[in-house]
Amino acid sequence: MVRNSSTRLRLGAISAMAVVLAALAGPPASAAGPAPQQTEAVNKDLVGFTNGTLLHELGHALVYFYELPITGKEEDAVDQLSLLLLVGDEKHADYALSTINAWAALANADEQGQRPIEAYADQHSLEAQRYYNWVCWLYGSDPEGYADAVATADNPNGSLPEDRAQQCPTEFDSINNSWSTLLAPYLKDQ
Ligand SMILES: [Zn+2]
Repeated sequence: MVRNSSTRLRLGAISAMAVVLAALAGPPASAAGPAPQQTEAVNKDLVGFTNGTLLHELGHALVYFYELPITGKEEDAVDQLSLLLLVGDEKHADYALSTINAWAALANADEQGQRPIEAYADQHSLEAQRYYNWVCWLYGSDPEGYADAVATADNPNGSLPEDRAQQCPTEFDSINNSWSTLLAPYLKDQ
């Protein structure tokens, strides 16, 4: 089957905003008593995280119904699809940022407790790994726009280690190509 641009997942460039880069800079600080604007931010993140989670579950459904061949962890693969579907425009890229914020909060909570050895047997990657994956793939979708996500000597507040960041554009291209190939037979020509 010949693929063309109309049958590929639409993944447009994203313009970065200061608020976006601030969210990428690191996990949100916990607050003893939420101020109104913090409540608003939490509500916004809940909407974004819900969308990110729904698209993750959509990925499972597509894998099941179309019997898509997945190697490696399916949980990671459908996280990739969720991110891919969100980065096509600015509004939905905000949902990806909210999902990143949620994983940061969950990773922080996870760090507080003692992790049982069984946690490593789970089908899901650990919360902190999912956080870094999402940051990496979002950065990889637009390295210039999200340059502040990378921790460097000049940008110590960046959250993504430089070693991982170097691989992220390639990781993004790879998951974009893989999902585009897997779904090509099922996408309607426009
Ligand atoms: Zn899942």
